[in-house]
Amino acid sequence: MNDPYINSLIRDVPDFPKKGIVFKDISGLLASAKARTLVTSKLAQPFLAKNIDVVVGIESRGFLFGMLLAEALNARFVMVRKPGKLPGELMTQDYDLEYGTDQIQMQKNAIKETDHVLIHDDVLATGGTARATSQLIHATGATIAGYSFIMDLTFLNGKEKLGDAPINSILSY
Ligand code: AMP
Repeated sequence: MNDPYINSLIRDVPDFPKKGIVFKDISGLLASAKARTLVTSKLAQPFLAKNIDVVVGIESRGFLFGMLLAEALNARFVMVRKPGKLPGELMTQDYDLEYGTDQIQMQKNAIKETDHVLIHDDVLATGGTARATSQLIHATGATIAGYSFIMDLTFLNGKEKLGDAPINSILSY
């Protein structure tokens, strides 16, 4: 069951950023120190004993709790970003959108073959972005130890796009 306190701080914004989308606004979670602590501990809990080396946060809201999660797990933090944001040598992954394609990028050598990686984003929707991120991680030879989301929009079946690694979502809708 969804934690009523955490749930109460997430705001539904209809028709944002475009008509038909109900945007899940996490600003209320960010604004509360109590909520940040609680969310971080719920994100970290299933992975405390899993020897996570790296938390990979997905642009851009995945950076917010991703960093706190990395801190809680005493792990490194690596950014996966939209094209044109990261300097240096990069790895790039294409993925399909509803209309057209997009790309995400990660810095080369940010992840080692021996790493156990936890992928984090705020919302699991269709799963396309998280899957593209998993493809970047696989290309490094590292192990995906799990996926971590604040919430899962279950009606979009994003979980089906992800592999066998454990998936932790604090809230389900
Ligand atoms: P996905 O469809 O799972 O690839 O989601 C794409 C990205 O958009 C993810 O980074 C999500 O955080 C974000 N996203 C998708 N749907 C929503 C929503 N309803 N509210 C807020 N963020 C969303």
